[in-house]
Amino acid sequence: MLRRLGLLDFNFLVKRVARHPGKTEIPAGELWLVIDGGVKKWACLSCPGGCGVQISLSLNPERRPRWEVDQDFWQRPTVSPSIHQQKMCRCHFWIRKGMILWSKT
Ligand SMILES: [Zn+2]
Repeated sequence: MLRRLGLLDFNFLVKRVARHPGKTEIPAGELWLVIDGGVKKWACLSCPGGCGVQISLSLNPERRPRWEVDQDFWQRPTVSPSIHQQKMCRCHFWIRKGMILWSKT
């Protein structure tokens, strides 16, 4: 609704789920935040670079690499650091307030 009115712009919105999606296909435009026992465990999305492969980002502070996901009032995620998809299309991007920012490297 807000999007249609042009008031809210985003490529991704957060959807909270209770367990890792496994091989489930994640719809474009959704970033699945896996929250288990109140703890953020994973952020999962389909690669926006064209290959569509599922990307799982560990949010576990005790693992490396790890990422952090924040979200704003509209559920738009900000992910840090950047996401570098190493296997398929090798795209490299940031997600800021739900928007994809492509890296040139
Ligand atoms: Zn890709």
